[in-house]
Amino acid sequence: MSFLSLGLMPELLRAIQEQGYDQPTPIQSQAIPAILKGNDILAGAQTGTGKTAGFTLPLLHRLSAGKENTQHRRIRALVLTPTRELAAQVGESVKTYAKYLPIKSQVIFGGVGIRPQINALRRGVDVLVATPGRLLDHVQQQTIDLSGVEILVLDEADRMLDMGFIHAIQKVMQLLPAKRQTLLFSATFSDGIKKLATSLLTAPVLIEVASQNTANESVSQVAHPVDRQRKRELLSYMIGSRNLRQVLVFARTKRGADRLSKQLIQDGIKTAAIHGDKSQNARSKALADFKGGTIRVLVATDIAARGIDIDQLPHVINYDLPEVAEDYVHRIGRTGRAGNNGAAHSLVSIDEHKQLRDIERLIKRNIPQQLIPGFEPDKSIKAEPSSTRPRRPAAASKRNTSSAPAAHRGKRPPLHAGKGQSGRGRRVNKQSSLGS
Ligand code: AMP
Repeated sequence: MSFLSLGLMPELLRAIQEQGYDQPTPIQSQAIPAILKGNDILAGAQTGTGKTAGFTLPLLHRLSAGKENTQHRRIRALVLTPTRELAAQVGESVKTYAKYLPIKSQVIFGGVGIRPQINALRRGVDVLVATPGRLLDHVQQQTIDLSGVEILVLDEADRMLDMGFIHAIQKVMQLLPAKRQTLLFSATFSDGIKKLATSLLTAPVLIEVASQNTANESVSQVAHPVDRQRKRELLSYMIGSRNLRQVLVFARTKRGADRLSKQLIQDGIKTAAIHGDKSQNARSKALADFKGGTIRVLVATDIAARGIDIDQLPHVINYDLPEVAEDYVHRIGRTGRAGNNGAAHSLVSIDEHKQLRDIERLIKRNIPQQLIPGFEPDKSIKAEPSSTRPRRPAAASKRNTSSAPAAHRGKRPPLHAGKGQSGRGRRVNKQSSLGS
């Protein structure tokens, strides 16, 4: 199938061609015709499948086909995303694909000044990409009018529910015209998503490209058993000995991400951390540096990593396994995007066997285990589930990291890391900065 046969307008085909896309991805060939016909859709699509173009292209087509008076623009399409990064990413895609159309788009999210957003909204916007929190700020300040929305997209809806945005979504719904087209995208289908779909969608076309809750086939997955205290050492060793160049590392907590990032820097590996406590500027810079290759390793928490889109990201390493098995699918969706091969490595300590089993059950396959010589687990170490493991006091942790001698890549640094890395309280403050 070609993009030509999907019935998209020439301005869009030209933009697609400039992107170098030869043919639609499976989600695109199913979603685009259904959306063009005006149907609501419920799409089960993981990140990396080309879902953004899958909804953006037909959305732009429909808005342009029924083009309104550009003198009095109003928001005709609203895309809601869980995180700032994803909003920025989708916003970029909208701009890219709308390059040859007289469509104005705007992205709004929290963590940055509201004034420029108010000014942009006042000048007139056709397509608005927003995170729920900041969108509601605008509603409260009466700086936004959503009464003209014809198309609503909920992108990564499962994550929005996960982050506690259900009430925000419901509030936004009350401000939209009842007669509209709604497109719901979700990587996983929990009961919450099914409920949301029932309340928001009318006779939706169901689209599912990869079977539910299965991991991306183009990603090779492997688990490396290792003692919890030796994870950092193993990570540095893997990056150094395999000469890994662009590695996205997942840590479970913000503090864990910061600590790991500092330790890798001490090991001579250029690293940055990205999480909800970082300023928007710091997050954008870290991402740009990572994409540009000035830093090798980006350590991210689950929520912060949503929306990171890097072509051909070759390596994802789970430093900690996620508490929620679905997050594993999201994490490894960062690699092997749009048909490229990727590798997902998980460093698994004896404390994480339950999480590993949950993940394997969810993805309906066993993840092969591979011991790294020199890092075989010590059989005398007993499991300590993260909920019972003592947390290292903040001051002690600081002292430990700052007093460590700078180690060079390839050299084994002292074994002070690991214990207490994977703190409890995942997603504490989850809504505080992200998605706002
Ligand atoms: P997404 O799943 O929307 O985050 O897209 C994942 C990646 O696939 C992005 O980098 C897109 O630029 C790329 N992509 C989208 N559609 C196509 C296509 N038809 N052919 C090749 N790459 C694509």
